[in-house]
Amino acid sequence: MKVIKGIYVLLGSNLEDRGKNLQQAREHIVQQVGSIIRTSGIYETEAWGVLDQPLFYNQVIQIDTDLGHEDLLRALQNIEQKIGKVKVGKWRERLIDIDLLYYGNRLVRTATLTVPHPEIQNRRFTLAPLVELIPNEVHPVLLQSHQKLLAATPDTLEVWLVGSRNRVGGRPEAGDRK
Ligand code: AMP
Repeated sequence: MKVIKGIYVLLGSNLEDRGKNLQQAREHIVQQVGSIIRTSGIYETEAWGVLDQPLFYNQVIQIDTDLGHEDLLRALQNIEQKIGKVKVGKWRERLIDIDLLYYGNRLVRTATLTVPHPEIQNRRFTLAPLVELIPNEVHPVLLQSHQKLLAATPDTLEVWLVGSRNRVGGRPEAGDRK
């Protein structure tokens, strides 16, 4: 079984210049958190939870940091505030959203932090970039690879890799149906 060794963070934006907002988040992370080891492509995704809002850009990055998980969460929240986390309501549009997905294989459950992030398996927009980076590494609670989790996710929202016309699943298109 291939365990997760890295620290993985999900970036999301669906307001104004989404690519620039992700870039700003990566710059702040390099300045305040540590180095970026790898980045996934950028995925354009339908909004989860509340559908009548602009499409998101999402990206997973692998980082290296000396910060422990609590300090890391605080640093990421600080960056959200700096970029301007306009939050209209739960699951609504925002300039930037940063989630801590994995801190290696560590399991954390406190009042403010759950790691692995509890929704990974329910969100195609998180699983698609994770499959790009770590397809065979295994979720430490669910004990399934990201490839398997993506194949099995109940999420039907559409996900596209930006710059490519390939969909990464979602609702079946007319041509997909038998
Ligand atoms: P949201 O703005 O919807 O991403 O939710 C942020 C809230 O989720 C904050 O109050 C965090 O303390 C909490 N939270 C719990 N686990 C995580 C996690 N793994 N990554 C980011 N936020 C988390």
